[in-house]
Amino acid sequence: MERRGFLRASGAAGLGLALPACRGLAHLGIPIHIRQPGLAEGHRLRDAGPLPVPTREIRTGVAILGSGVAGLTAAWRLARDGYDDFLLIDGPEPDGNAAAGRFDSPSGPLPHPRGAHYLPLPSMESRGVRELLFELGVIEAEPFSERPRFSEAALVHAPDERLFFDGAWHEGLLPTEQVNADEAGQHRRFLAEMAALTRRRGSDGRRLFCVPKALSSTDAEWHQLDTLSFRDWLTARAYSAPSLHTWLDYVCRDEYGAGPEHVSAWAGLHYFASRGGHAANAADGTLLTWPEGLAFLARGLRSRVPPARQQPGYALRIDETREGVAILCQNAAGPFLLHARRAICAMPLHVAARVIPHLRDYGFDPARHLPAQAPWLVANFLLDGFPTEPVESPLAWDNVIHGSPGLGWVVSTHQWLRAAKPAHTVFTAYRALADQAPADARQRLLAMRPDELLELAAVDLKQAYGALELWRRTQAVDITVRGHGMAIPGCGSLNDPGLAALQAADGRLLFAHADLSGYSVFEEASWWGERAARLAATR
Ligand SMILES: Cc1cc2nc3c(=O)[nH]c(=O)nc-3n(C[C@H](O)[C@H](O)[C@H](O)COP(=O)(O)OP(=O)(O)OC[C@H]3O[C@@H](n4cnc5c(N)ncnc54)[C@H](O)[C@@H]3O)c2cc1C
Repeated sequence: MERRGFLRASGAAGLGLALPACRGLAHLGIPIHIRQPGLAEGHRLRDAGPLPVPTREIRTGVAILGSGVAGLTAAWRLARDGYDDFLLIDGPEPDGNAAAGRFDSPSGPLPHPRGAHYLPLPSMESRGVRELLFELGVIEAEPFSERPRFSEAALVHAPDERLFFDGAWHEGLLPTEQVNADEAGQHRRFLAEMAALTRRRGSDGRRLFCVPKALSSTDAEWHQLDTLSFRDWLTARAYSAPSLHTWLDYVCRDEYGAGPEHVSAWAGLHYFASRGGHAANAADGTLLTWPEGLAFLARGLRSRVPPARQQPGYALRIDETREGVAILCQNAAGPFLLHARRAICAMPLHVAARVIPHLRDYGFDPARHLPAQAPWLVANFLLDGFPTEPVESPLAWDNVIHGSPGLGWVVSTHQWLRAAKPAHTVFTAYRALADQAPADARQRLLAMRPDELLELAAVDLKQAYGALELWRRTQAVDITVRGHGMAIPGCGSLNDPGLAALQAADGRLLFAHADLSGYSVFEEASWWGERAARLAATR
């Protein structure tokens, strides 16, 4: 992309005097806060030092180990069903990937996401998610109907998306109007093919692609798409338009943390053909969001779990005993032994592999079955006022630069229903480190200084506004490094026998985490949390 064209279009012409890297930041006095949730605890487990001797013991019926969406959903479901003999152990990061932060700006508190930020309109099959949304007032009427009515405050309002393509901003993220007739034809053919797949059912009568994934058709003909990369599928279907490939590369990195060459064709198609939720009061494809992202939902779940059923701490080791499960935990008060009849392992699988020495007995061999995990950066920029935008294409909720290694930024104050723009705002920039093998990218991230991390995180904002304008407005930056952000649904993940074994586990240990689906979205985490809670409550 032509940076000069960009500056012209964004009204920031003449500001091309880039500051040298980020060296100027300290001198500008911009505080940068780097967070690496779970890193110290995870490395402690990886390095397998001597285990501490517990100084106290706690007993409970069901231990829930991890408080991301899956663990919180399990706790919510148990509490909702009147089962109160359980204990939720938060893990190193309460709310996990659905955590939020907050800037205390001169004009008041500004919440913002540190991970997940949006939810699509839920599919008919996402009953648990619909029940939760109804309970939280996000669905206002007819929660299980084809077209529930959603709260206007949560439906992303216009302008929702814009794309910087060929020197100017355009509505939407696929530049069909801006490319030649052949490329535009391919865009239309692709979208028509995806629409047809959304309606299609397999030989077992189920939808081919469904959220939750577990309810998708198991038709073998379609499952074969798990052996082919999405990129190869596109090539085989004669999709050659560079603009289509660039858009799909963005979509895959945004959804799965890796490009189409690393994602299976089944997963690539699943993204487009699985959801299809509708609303009585919004167009198809409308998203739900909140200033703090999905932390709004995490908070709603947590607030329905009695405080006495929640405990800080994390698991160091899980052993099965004759009576049930013994979990060695650590928190600020010291090590303790938690005895439970059953445990729901709601931690990521790479952590479970360290904490559960006998995980192989469940049919899951970490060396073979652990999904690759994409590292992510989520950077929140507290801004004094809003950068100048072209009159004809105002700032949208989601702002993406075609062909950028970044994934654009969302505006945390977008949903504020006020007559005037706030004096301060937060831009949340996302970046999946998809240009390297995940393990190499993690190593690279570990070695980076704060200014280097900022350089990665600010790539799109700098391109959009120029460094001078960006740093002039930036009052603070909060960067969350998620080294194991999300599972990448690579070839083989759909039919992975290790994941299938953990999905089916029904012994003293139950598993609940989005990793079980081989890819990470709210609805999948919720599905596994619900399932585990229902099983745990039965005996
Ligand atoms: C940057 C980013 C953006 C995302 N954006 C979206 C989005 O917009 N929409 C969407 O639907 N999804 C999004 N996702 C996917 C997101 O991961 C899921 O929506 C969901 O939050 C996953 O929940 P989970 O419970 O499966 O796992 P996690 O969020 O990984 O939670 C795991 C929990 O386990 C705990 N834990 C870790 N170690 C231990 C231990 N030793 N003992 C006990 N507990 C432990 C942690 O503290 C944490 O509470 C995003 C993911 C990332 C990384």
